[in-house]
Amino acid sequence: MALRTPQQYVESLRDGRVVYLMGKRVPDVTQDPILQICIKWMAMDYVMQQDPKYQDLVTDLNEQGERVSFVFKAQKTRDDLMRLREIVKLWGRVCFGKPSGAKFVGKDGLNAVTVVAPRVDRAMGTHYADNVESYRRFLQENDASLALAMTDVKGDRSLAPSKQKPHQDYYVHIVEERKDGIVVRGAKAHISEAPLSNELIVVPCRAMKEDDKDYAVSFGVPANAKGLSFISAEPEMKEPGNFFDYPLSASVYINDAMVIFDDVFIPNERIFLKGEWKFAGHIAHMFGNFHRLSAETYKAVELELLAGAAALMAEYNNVEHVAHIREKLTWLANYAEATEVLGRAACEHCALETESGLVYPNPMIANIAKLYFADNWHQGTKYLQDIAGGIVATAPAAADYYNPETHDYIEKYLGGKEGIPTEHRLRLIKFIRDLGSSYEDVITLHAEGSLAAQRLSIHALAEFDRYKAAAKRAARINDGSHDPIYSQLPEFPPAI
Ligand SMILES: Cc1cc2nc3c(=O)[nH]c(=O)nc-3n(C[C@H](O)[C@H](O)[C@H](O)COP(=O)(O)OP(=O)(O)OC[C@H]3O[C@@H](n4cnc5c(N)ncnc54)[C@H](O)[C@@H]3O)c2cc1C
Repeated sequence: MALRTPQQYVESLRDGRVVYLMGKRVPDVTQDPILQICIKWMAMDYVMQQDPKYQDLVTDLNEQGERVSFVFKAQKTRDDLMRLREIVKLWGRVCFGKPSGAKFVGKDGLNAVTVVAPRVDRAMGTHYADNVESYRRFLQENDASLALAMTDVKGDRSLAPSKQKPHQDYYVHIVEERKDGIVVRGAKAHISEAPLSNELIVVPCRAMKEDDKDYAVSFGVPANAKGLSFISAEPEMKEPGNFFDYPLSASVYINDAMVIFDDVFIPNERIFLKGEWKFAGHIAHMFGNFHRLSAETYKAVELELLAGAAALMAEYNNVEHVAHIREKLTWLANYAEATEVLGRAACEHCALETESGLVYPNPMIANIAKLYFADNWHQGTKYLQDIAGGIVATAPAAADYYNPETHDYIEKYLGGKEGIPTEHRLRLIKFIRDLGSSYEDVITLHAEGSLAAQRLSIHALAEFDRYKAAAKRAARINDGSHDPIYSQLPEFPPAI
C-alpha cells in the first residue's frame, strides 16, 4: 500500500476496536465528535505526506524502492537526525505546538527495539532482530499509525513488578506461553493517541530483575486485537468545534489513554523481548534516548507560541515597553531559543549505536534540554498569565460575545489599546487560558519522563572526575591523579 491518504487512515479505524470515552463504549470512533479531534490531528501526518510541498521532506524511498514515511526509516546519520527535527518542527508548527501524532512517539519505540533486539539475539541466541525488521517493513508498507505503550500503571511505586499487591497485573506481563506465541495481561497508562492508532508498540518501562522476567516483554500489537481495550483520557474541552473559547484544546486532543491488556494473544513473529530480563532496561533507556529529539523539537515550537502569546498580549494592552514586562518577554524569548539550541546541539553532537548503525541525540545534551524546558515551564506560564491579567480566568464565553444583548458591552469594555479589535483580544485571552491549562503543565512535566529521570541521567553522565581535576589544578592539590585534559595543560601562571 505504501503511502496512505488521510481518508484511508480514517477508514482503517473502523475495525471493531474497543474504545471507551466518558462512560460509554464508542461504536465507531470515526463518528464521535471528540475522538474526531484526535483523528484530524493525527491525519495531518497523512495530509502532509500527500502534499507535494512537503513530500520530499516527510517521505523517502525504502530499501525496496517504495516511497514510505521517512520516520519509519532507521536514522543512520547526523543529517537524518537534523531532517527528523525539521519534520517534527513542521508537524509542531502546523498543529499549534503539538506535532501530529500518527507516528510521533511510536517511531522512537521502534528504534529502541531495533537497537536492543540484536543485543538480545547475540547474548541469548534469539531471533528478535528479524521480527523487528519484519515489523518495520509492515509499518512502512501499511503506512500505519503507531502509538508507544511504555508506561505501566505501576501500583506501589516502591515495589518491583512481581512484588505488587493485591494483584500482579500493575505491569504488563506474560501470563501464558504457547507454541505459537504468548498471552499478556496488565495495563499501560497515558498512552498518547493509542485509541486512534493502527498499531501499538509495547515496551517495558524500567529495568527488571530475574524475579520480574515475565514482565520483561516487548511486542507489536494491532489496536483491534482481542482483549485489548482503551479507556480514553477525559478531554479538557467538552465542546468540539468551539474554536473561539478553546482554540487549542478543540484543535488538539491527544487522548493519552489507559490501555487494558486482558489476556491478549501475541504471535511469536511480533515479539521483540520475552523474558530476557537483563535487556528490559536497555529498551526503556534507548526509547528515552530517541524520544528526546521529538520532545525537545516540538517543545521549542510550543515555546514560540508561549513567547508569542505574551508579546501579543503586551502589545494589545499597550504595556510592551514597561520595564518588568520587557524583562519577562526577554526571559520567554531566551527560554524558547535556548530550548531550540539545546535540542539542535544534541543532534549535531549525536551518538552512534555501533551494532545497529542508528544515531540518536547526544544523551547528556538531550537530558539537559528536557530538564531545562520541563523545569521552567511553570515559570513561563506564570509570566504569560502575569502579563495577560485576570481576564484569562474570568472572560465571558464566545456565546456572550455573539449574543446581541451582551455583545456591545463586551465589545466596549473588553477592548485594549485603541485600534486592536476586541474580538482579537478575546480570542488571544482564550488561547492563553488553553496554553496555561493543567494538561499543558502536566504534559510538559511528565511526558517523556519525570524530572527525576533526567536528573538521574545527567548525574550518571556527568564527568565529575574531569570537574574534580579542574578544581584540584586551580587549588594546587597534587595527589598524583591523572586527567587526560587537565594534567596536560601548561603551567599557569607561567614561570617568566
Ligand atoms: C500527557 C502525557 C502523555 C504521555 N504519553 C505517553 C506515551 O505516549 N507513552 C508512554 O508510554 N507514556 C506516556 N506518558 C507517560 C510518562 O512517560 C509518565 O507520565 C512519566 O514517566 C511519569 O510516570 P508516572 O506518570 O507514572 O508518574 P510516577 O511514576 O507516579 O511519578 C510521580 C513522581 O514520583 C516519583 N517516583 C515514582 N516512582 C519512584 C521511585 N520508585 N523512586 C523515587 N521516585 C519515584 C517520580 O520521579 C515523580 O516525581 C505520558 C504522560 C503524559 C502526562
